[in-house]
Amino acid sequence: MNIPMLDLKAQYASIKDEIDGKVLEVLSAQNFILGAEVKALEEEIAAYSGVRFAIGVSSGSDALIISLMALGIGSGDAVVTTPFTFFATAGAIARLGAKTVFCDIDPVTYNIDPRSLEEVLLKLKKGRRIARVKAILPVHLYGQVADMDPIMKLAAKYNLRVVEDAAQAIGSEYPGRKGVRRAGAIGTLGTLSFYPSKNLGGYGDGGMVLTDNARLADKLKMLRVHGGIGKYYYKILGGNFRLDALQAAILRVKYRHLDEWQQKRRERAAYYDQKFAALGMKDARFVQTPVAVYRDSGARNFHTYHQYVIRVKDRDKLQAHLKTNGVGTSVFYPLSLHQQQCFADLGYRRGDFPVSEKAAKEVLALPIHPELTAEQQDYIVDSIKGFLG
Ligand SMILES: *Cc1c(COP(=O)(O)O)cnc(C)c1O
Repeated sequence: MNIPMLDLKAQYASIKDEIDGKVLEVLSAQNFILGAEVKALEEEIAAYSGVRFAIGVSSGSDALIISLMALGIGSGDAVVTTPFTFFATAGAIARLGAKTVFCDIDPVTYNIDPRSLEEVLLKLKKGRRIARVKAILPVHLYGQVADMDPIMKLAAKYNLRVVEDAAQAIGSEYPGRKGVRRAGAIGTLGTLSFYPSKNLGGYGDGGMVLTDNARLADKLKMLRVHGGIGKYYYKILGGNFRLDALQAAILRVKYRHLDEWQQKRRERAAYYDQKFAALGMKDARFVQTPVAVYRDSGARNFHTYHQYVIRVKDRDKLQAHLKTNGVGTSVFYPLSLHQQQCFADLGYRRGDFPVSEKAAKEVLALPIHPELTAEQQDYIVDSIKGFLG
């Protein structure tokens, strides 16, 4: 059996008429930059995520860059984030000339460990370098919101802004002190990605910034058009960070199916959970994706399973075995960011973030797309069982 990691063609086939009609509409109108479709998408995603403002931008990576720009972060500043994430999270900080400070992750959720964050901030304070730190950048990895209550508490204590990288977590929910909030709606700013493989993916690049802050929303809108006020007059230094009408129109069609697709991802995750549990494979060699129960609230969060990730000791061998059996899998991510060559100047070494380093060796993401069938899942589980014995 051949099971791809992702099946975008199957998804397109299921909505082809709606998409094609809408694309032709945009082509007829010949208005490609920002405009009514982008504005309508911004309103829909703002309402969906539970924020007052959403600003459509050119990608999830640019959403991070423009967010840090809006907060005035640049050379001489520092931002604390996780080393176990997609490159763009730390790349955005470095691109603005600011310094990336890493802290380790929680071994269960793979998200920032608030205890490690606290240690890092305390160490910076003792070294009299805390004044440089301007923001915390938590990532909601695999579709599960990081433990935001203690992160927000630390941000308040040290007077830091919080930018949530919610690229993998649109619609995910966190049951915190202030009630249930969706990903990207808890910090000062939140960023989304519409990269084709994301839970809400376009047919090209796209992203969005979420906020409740009217002043920051205005600044973000200015920054995305080169910092301009009106045509050919520039107040601040911005760039071309625009979302285009074609992507917005496609995303608005796909948005109508988002809740159904999220539900399907959760059902498929529950099916894997149940199958793996029935096989009694939950030992030291194998751990299925856990859903966090947070210390402060004691409540379970709402995971949208951008990825369904297992941990195994012989990860690379299992991946090769599954490939031989026709099953596509992915490793997100094989090398912790503090060990990447491009960040060598930060001076980190192997062993600095042991939880992140171990995860990089053991995680394996299985197919979890909404189009996946029970028969395919049975086959995947059987193939894994065949390998583990
Ligand atoms: C996808 C992703 C991004 C970048 O989004 P692009 O739209 O591909 O630029 C940033 N952070 C994380 C965690 C991501 O998964």
